[in-house]
Amino acid sequence: MPQSSIIVVGNEILRGFTVDTNSNWLASRLFQCGYQVRVITTVGDVDEDIVGAIHDHVARAELSRIFVCGGLGPTPDDRTYVALARALDQPLVYRREVGAQMQNLMFIRNMAASRGTAGLNAGNRRMAMLPEGATLVRNGAGMAPGLAFDLEQDRYLFALPGVPHELRAVYEDIEVRYLTGSRGDAVRELHYRLAPESMFHDVMRDLEREYPDVSLGSYPQTETRELILRASGPDSERVDAVIKAIRDRIRQYSPVG
Ligand code: ATP
Ligand code: MG
Repeated sequence: MPQSSIIVVGNEILRGFTVDTNSNWLASRLFQCGYQVRVITTVGDVDEDIVGAIHDHVARAELSRIFVCGGLGPTPDDRTYVALARALDQPLVYRREVGAQMQNLMFIRNMAASRGTAGLNAGNRRMAMLPEGATLVRNGAGMAPGLAFDLEQDRYLFALPGVPHELRAVYEDIEVRYLTGSRGDAVRELHYRLAPESMFHDVMRDLEREYPDVSLGSYPQTETRELILRASGPDSERVDAVIKAIRDRIRQYSPVG
């Protein structure tokens, strides 16, 4: 099963101003299409930290799709393109088509009129300076393009914008182009009301041994006071078998629903 990873970039995340919804959304989509996330790293808007995180993830051969999220914008605290260039040892080159797309967007959004010019300012030009070798991924929702880098041997690194609806728009294109050929795991759940987690210890330990290909977890929900047992794995029959085994072996409680 191919695996993926996420590098979230932004001081606002580390300082608690912004909740990182991007990695949560991405992890869920990647799980569904069969590229489970193995690791998520969060770093601030600090060049050496972004470069370090990219180096670490690229060095791990089991990570076949790496997503760097945020910091593609026009302000000096947006450092991802520069960090990518350093990490991949590529020069930054001006991409005319990106500049042209920005101008297009300025006309479409009437920004050219309010700015009094359709010329690119320093911030805009900065956003069109991209590491050599980057393949552009269309951003239908904003100015900063997504990027794809071929790391060879069916490994790719992507850069996605931080604005959540832009990240999603770029990801949709990436999913179609770069995330084919795998299949998401089957997922089954049991919900128990007022059942203490410790009740399940022995059964879960045994099932872990009997079904090493099925991942089994226990997730108490404090608000509904339900306990969710969730099983997932590539073989849906094996996942079903685990769920059935829990039902059969836990006699004191019955799942709801
Ligand atoms: P832009 O081109 O708009 O500048 P960007 O790629 O530079 O996009 P950032 O500047 O990092 O993105 O973030 C833009 C906005 O998106 C900010 O308001 C930020 O708080 C929000 N944002 C960034 N990262 C995340 C995240 N992981 N989860 C949720 N929101 C995020
Ligand atoms: Mg940012």
